[in-house]
Amino acid sequence: MPVGFATRAAPIAGRIETLGGLGLDLFDKCRAFTRPQEIQAAGLYPYFKPIEASDGTRVVIEGRERIMAGSNNYLGLTVHPDVKAAAIDAVQKYGTSCTGSRYLNGTLDLHVELEQQLAAFLNKEACVLLSTGFQTNLGLLQTIASKGDFILSDKENHSSIVVGTQASYATTVRYRHNDMRDLENKLSKLPEDAGKLIVSDGVFSMSGALVNLPALVDIARRYGARIALDDAHGTGVIGEGGRGTASHFGLVAETDIITGTFSKSFASLGGFIAGDREVISYLKHNAAALIFSASMTPASTATVIAALKVMQQEPERIARLKQVAERMRRGFMEMGFRVIDGETAIVPVVIGEDEATFRFWQALYKRGVFVNCVISPAVPRGMSLIRTSYIATHSDEELDLILEAFYQTGREMGLIGQPSGTLVASAG
Ligand code: PMP
Repeated sequence: MPVGFATRAAPIAGRIETLGGLGLDLFDKCRAFTRPQEIQAAGLYPYFKPIEASDGTRVVIEGRERIMAGSNNYLGLTVHPDVKAAAIDAVQKYGTSCTGSRYLNGTLDLHVELEQQLAAFLNKEACVLLSTGFQTNLGLLQTIASKGDFILSDKENHSSIVVGTQASYATTVRYRHNDMRDLENKLSKLPEDAGKLIVSDGVFSMSGALVNLPALVDIARRYGARIALDDAHGTGVIGEGGRGTASHFGLVAETDIITGTFSKSFASLGGFIAGDREVISYLKHNAAALIFSASMTPASTATVIAALKVMQQEPERIARLKQVAERMRRGFMEMGFRVIDGETAIVPVVIGEDEATFRFWQALYKRGVFVNCVISPAVPRGMSLIRTSYIATHSDEELDLILEAFYQTGREMGLIGQPSGTLVASAG
């Protein structure tokens, strides 16, 4: 789902006068789209803030150090010495770019090594790398489902899945968020002999909710549908040794295809699709998002290889991440905030209206805490939220400072009441 508000561009009155009286100008909507400037003028704009320096949990923005509680650097590996060294060594050995597609001149031995390692890690036969996580979903859906096929897609799936379904010639049927009855109802109406793919986020990116995979697998089996799971926020966070959502539920073999990103736990840029050997070979030779786009850079690829190694050698990172997120979830709840419950590293605090959410974000920012401001249409109206997400390397002191900033802001804005005790301390 999109985090911004670009889809807000409204139909425009008065467009007829444009283009010297010739009628519609394609750019009219851009001129009329003034919401970002309005929010900027109010001093509340929370997007595109340039980070001037980062050590993972602390960043410098607008000259001031702030605690980062809105990144997807779940395991804190962007600054791990071995991971950084691997990226630097790769630049020394291979240069800065592959300058071409995997298909032709852009395959490195590093790409092949990482594909083999990931396939083994995820218990899948094969794996293929793409240059972003977004491209994995786009490439997969556009290629694997064709005219006459059906894609069943959760209504809260990530934007890259939505775009992938739009790019496919298959018919897409959207089912209510994580609603397995609705999924079954919709599946039951489709022609028996048509190809069917159910696609879902493993961990939903805005709410942190887990897909109901056991029920989904059961339904898929009964209706002869294949399953693709986007595990961008599950890999490295949940499941055995960070093997993700399918592993968390013990349903790796039943989950036909797993896609993922390297821009979160793996501290890099790129993505993967893992599944059966024939499926991966088919995608490698047919997916436009792979064939017609340059491959992952040497540094990005070496980073993931090193990150995967650290993930396996230092399992305490995953355990710490879980502990951190649980502590924050409980802390916010005890203060009286409306928290979307879950078991991942994403802890969303619902504020309500867009305007209040912008103000809440701004107050936290002024208190030295950086989070993500998520407004409609990324979430339903009235459900705008502050999305916090955690890093295994957050110190207890940093977590206390985040809780304190939330507490002060919540009190100031009248969102929470008087505590019964010292809430921040009891959140530990
Ligand atoms: N899927 C999900 C669920 C995501 O949250 C994201 C990134 N926010 C992506 C895919 C895309 O990944 P990438 O950043 O690697 O393009």
